Amino acid sequence: MGVPLLDLDAQYRPLRDEILAAITRVCDSQRFIMGPEVEALERELAALLGVPHAIAVSSGTDALLLALMALGIKAGDEVVTTTFSFFATAGAIVRAGARPVLVDIDPATFNIDPVQAVAAITPRTKAIMPVHLFGLAADLDPLMEAATRAGIAVVEDAAQAIGSTYKTRPLGAIGAFGCFSFFPSKNLGAFGDAGLLTATDPVLAERARLLRTHGMKPKYYHHLVGANFRMDAMQAAVLRVKAPHLAGWTDGRRANAARYRRLFHDAGLDAAITLPAEPSDRSHIFNQFVIRTPDRDALKQHLDQQGIGNEIYYPVPFHLQPCFADLGYRRGAFPHAERAAEESLAIPVYGELTAAQQEEVVAAIGQFVHGRVPASARR
Ligand SMILES: *Cc1c(COP(=O)(O)O)cnc(C)c1O
Repeated sequence: MGVPLLDLDAQYRPLRDEILAAITRVCDSQRFIMGPEVEALERELAALLGVPHAIAVSSGTDALLLALMALGIKAGDEVVTTTFSFFATAGAIVRAGARPVLVDIDPATFNIDPVQAVAAITPRTKAIMPVHLFGLAADLDPLMEAATRAGIAVVEDAAQAIGSTYKTRPLGAIGAFGCFSFFPSKNLGAFGDAGLLTATDPVLAERARLLRTHGMKPKYYHHLVGANFRMDAMQAAVLRVKAPHLAGWTDGRRANAARYRRLFHDAGLDAAITLPAEPSDRSHIFNQFVIRTPDRDALKQHLDQQGIGNEIYYPVPFHLQPCFADLGYRRGAFPHAERAAEESLAIPVYGELTAAQQEEVVAAIGQFVHGRVPASARR
């Protein structure tokens, strides 16, 4: 039958009337940029996420760049980050003019290795940028302690981790800034590009708000050189309809992850396939459910043939990207990330996924591993 990696239509159908009414409201108002819809969204998301300051922006990528600009990061500065993430993390650092100082991952969580991150801090380091990859919090305590000691900021790339927690604290509310994305495939997706910057410090939050609209206050008086990082009212209106459903959708993803654990175990796949870790001191919101196997490329080919949606996140770590060749890293520099790039594969985990679809996914993987459909997954 086949199973898609993501089925946005299944999420949209039950909300269609409400979303179209919200879009109509914006059309009838003829106020398309910022304005009351965006202000209402900021208030609602600040409350929902448990963060003091929420600043709606044009994308997750722009949230990252805006955070670095608000911190005054510039040419000659260094920002410590993971080598294993979506491109925007390192891209934002370079666009701010700074140098990304890359660090390997903890192979159990795919997240930045805190020991190596702390060791990478130099007198030129201005920030540490951990990524809560796939929806699981990075180990923030050691990073926060080291950053406080060094007098530098932690900028959380929480693009994949909206609503997730670290030691019961909401992500985005721990570092100086939290950066979220509403790209349609994220857990809370807009109908286009949109993002959110959260801040813990009121002065930094105000600076970011100013930089979001060309450093302008009042109109046509410019104190800082910012950019256009504004959010559209249309995106805000859609997000306001969807945001109250986020917790329920997250529960669905978590339940699906738990069901996968049972199905993989029952199918006797524990030895062949490594499932994502869920350390007990943090929550995982499963923006992606990423499995590992040394035979990844062959498994991917098999799943493609069976019509099972899958994706490699991410095939090339930053230190091996052609555009970062001038940073001077070599193959072998970060062995855990390099192995993850060769072994990881995301499978469908979206909230509306049914038990039957999950059984089909596991049966296809079992067929690949055992050369047959395991009895427990046979229907
Ligand atoms: C999606 C994503 C971004 C960028 O968000 P956009 O809204 O697509 O610009 C940044 N970092 C990570 C880890 C992401 O997954």
